[in-house]
Amino acid sequence: MARVYNFSAGPSMLPESVLKKAAAEMLDYEGSGQSVMEMSHRSKIYGTIIEGAEALLREVMNIPDNYKVLFLQGGASTQFAAIPMNLMTKSGKADYVITGQWAKKAHAEAARYGQANVVASSADKTFTYIPKLDPSTFTKDADYFYICMNNTIYGTVYHELPDTGDVPLVADISSCILSRPIDVSKFGVLYAGAQKNMAPAGLTVVIVREDLIGNAMDITPTMLNWKTHADNGSMFNTPPCYTIYIAKLVLEWIKNEVGGLDKMYEINKKKADLLYGFLDSSELFKGTVVPEDRSLMNVPFVTGDADLDAKFVKEATENGLVNIKGHRTVGGMRASIYNAMPYEGVEKLVEFMKKFEAKNK
Ligand SMILES: *Cc1c(COP(=O)(O)O)cnc(C)c1O
Repeated sequence: MARVYNFSAGPSMLPESVLKKAAAEMLDYEGSGQSVMEMSHRSKIYGTIIEGAEALLREVMNIPDNYKVLFLQGGASTQFAAIPMNLMTKSGKADYVITGQWAKKAHAEAARYGQANVVASSADKTFTYIPKLDPSTFTKDADYFYICMNNTIYGTVYHELPDTGDVPLVADISSCILSRPIDVSKFGVLYAGAQKNMAPAGLTVVIVREDLIGNAMDITPTMLNWKTHADNGSMFNTPPCYTIYIAKLVLEWIKNEVGGLDKMYEINKKKADLLYGFLDSSELFKGTVVPEDRSLMNVPFVTGDADLDAKFVKEATENGLVNIKGHRTVGGMRASIYNAMPYEGVEKLVEFMKKFEAKNK
């Protein structure tokens, strides 16, 4: 069986050892005679899975005790509404930085519930950079300050966090969660759809400081109120059971096989350096992002010729390098090199790009 190198932005690759373990446990999980998919979420054995997943996430990410971890459904996109509904309740104001489509969508949703200010945007250059932020322009009494940390479509990342003082910082980390250590205590809320770097689709993780729970707007649907899930250990209703189980296996992989987030970061940096290093030396391919804001996870690049881009995507696919076509708003190519993409996958890609360049100069 030949597995391909999958450069998809999400859903994306999972570690092979995780898939093998899940396959081995598919029919009979730890002698229960059932698949994890079939178990009651209220059973004792499932309890060990969801509690184990939370404990591992807390350990691997070093999440302080005064933060709740919620395992939710609805994707990151549902949180675009949940965030203002749970937080925009004192001054009714929030600041947003628009660094791409996901931040833009989050802002549009917040604007339905309160005063959502745009403090900066990089729309003028197709989101190819992270705008410089001037704290004197921030709203002093904002209920929160919102960023999208890693911009999946455009391939930018914040290497430095904005200084928001006492205003809670809220960050969408869908495409960079678990890619490197992060100081959770600097944030009010961190959240992520799991399907980029953590698990299959169907799970959204919300990490929220306890004092920010319990102030939701009256109109907030029960299911969008973080308090509902915080008070019930993410078991108010049926959680995404199987996805949480895979997330637990992925966290075990990070902890035991990779050796934690410092190691993960080292490997991710090595992969990204290899690809960016080649892009910077190539006469055919060009990275689209300013070097100082480059993402370690999503690497967009172009040849400058749409037909040649299409040819590259086609030939890459034939060579087992799949899902490398860029987002329709950027064009060209995008290599998503999340945690589960092995170093050899990036090596294969760079080798292939070199060959393609030699033939198409
Ligand atoms: C993929 C993605 C989303 C959307 O996630 P869904 O789970 O599909 O709603 C939001 N933000 C970022 C940064 C993403 O990469």
